Amino acid sequence: MGEHVHVRVNHSLGVTEDGELIEMSRCRCGATFSRTYQPQEGLPEE
Ligand SMILES: [Zn+2]
Repeated sequence: MGEHVHVRVNHSLGVTEDGELIEMSRCRCGATFSRTYQPQEGLPEE
C-alpha cells in the first residue's frame, strides 16, 4: 500500500499503426507504462 517508485521492467516492444516504435513496460505492482518513439527522430539518449 502507499506510494512507491514504480520499477519499470521492459515488457515488450512493438510498432503502432502509425509506424512509431512503442515500448511497453510494467511494474510488479501492476502498473503499466507505454512510451512511443518517433523513428525519424531516432532513439532518445538519456
Ligand atoms: Zn509500481
